[in-house]
Amino acid sequence: MPVRYNVGVAKTKNCLLSSDDFGRTDRDAGGDCMRQYQLKETKEINKIVCNQCGKEIRVVDGTPREGVFSVDYAWGYFSDKDGEKHSFDLCESCYDKLLSSFQLPADIEE
Ligand SMILES: [Zn+2]
Repeated sequence: MPVRYNVGVAKTKNCLLSSDDFGRTDRDAGGDCMRQYQLKETKEINKIVCNQCGKEIRVVDGTPREGVFSVDYAWGYFSDKDGEKHSFDLCESCYDKLLSSFQLPADIEE
């Protein structure tokens, strides 16, 4: 197993809703809890919620009716977030704002 840091302990306590979690720094429990949160907030069947501004984007038959930038990223060994999977969605205007904050523009192909 790779070396782990204790960055997830506070989150784990909140998620477990348990008073007997002394000594139980169960990384897997924290991870599951985080995934459930993401599912509830952003991955409902009939809408996607922009994590940045909270805008709701309608989804019909599995297809968003507006542009959505969906991220599903598993951090690797050489990051401080090894083993964490980060997921979020941005509406098109929040995506445009993010890109305009870059020092170097994103590569865009047409
Ligand atoms: Zn937005």
